[in-house]
Amino acid sequence: MRTRFAPSPTGPLHLGHAYSAILAHDMARAAGGTFLLRMENTDLERCKPEWEALIVEDLAWLGLTWDGDILRQSDRIGSYNARLEPLAEQGVLYPCSCTRGDIRAALSAPQEGVPHAVYPGTCRGRPMESRRPGDALRLDLQRALDALRGHDLSFSETGPAHPGRHRVDREAALRTIGDVVLSRKGEDIVAYFLASAFDDADQAISHVIRGEDLFDFTPIQVILQHLFGLPTPVYHHHRLIRDETGKRLAKRDDARAIRRFREDGASPADIRRMVGLP
Ligand code: GLU
Repeated sequence: MRTRFAPSPTGPLHLGHAYSAILAHDMARAAGGTFLLRMENTDLERCKPEWEALIVEDLAWLGLTWDGDILRQSDRIGSYNARLEPLAEQGVLYPCSCTRGDIRAALSAPQEGVPHAVYPGTCRGRPMESRRPGDALRLDLQRALDALRGHDLSFSETGPAHPGRHRVDREAALRTIGDVVLSRKGEDIVAYFLASAFDDADQAISHVIRGEDLFDFTPIQVILQHLFGLPTPVYHHHRLIRDETGKRLAKRDDARAIRRFREDGASPADIRRMVGLP
């Protein structure tokens, strides 16, 4: 088993991340496998080296060890963009000059309760030659699915909420995912789910262990894996750690930051207990 913890360093490590990291670490170690640490910091405005340093410190304090060096997506943005070029030749991308907000949404992992807005297709059909500086590149999902006719678009899930084999529902993907933004060249912008799919393949990840909030993003990653000829790992989406009101913890939930618990004298064993791990 090769797995990873892949935080976006946009805030302190909180209980929810700690759960994700400990779970992935323990599963890898129990299997005699490999546990990697990856900083998903493609959103250069929101990701800060200070947060990364604190996350690393908290993980070490929790007693977690990772194998090899930390991989930083910010070091690889040029390579993600270069790998998109062959896809442009396949006719499954088009340039788009629509809203920045949409592009921002593609940058970071989705937030629970914030529905993904499906792009209405205003720029669809624009030829690649019409691409202007600052245009985003969108996936023409219908064309991509046509190109993947005959492919078995599916993945195995071992998490508690939806265990089993899942087939990507092509109709549902068109309705709910649509023509996603993949990158914007020249501005070092690349969608988080694309960078993450490349990295999982490059790091030979066999098992992706991550929060349940990302389950709905797995189909687009499977589609991209097939378009780029990448393997599909096994997925394990785990339960989310919620606050007393049932809300998922967010980065701004400073009260549940591991740093706070440390300052208040908690031990790593206390943190494990709080998230329900032995
Ligand atoms: N970077 C994502 C997050 O912080 C995790 C992505 C993944 O594990 O695939 O939510």
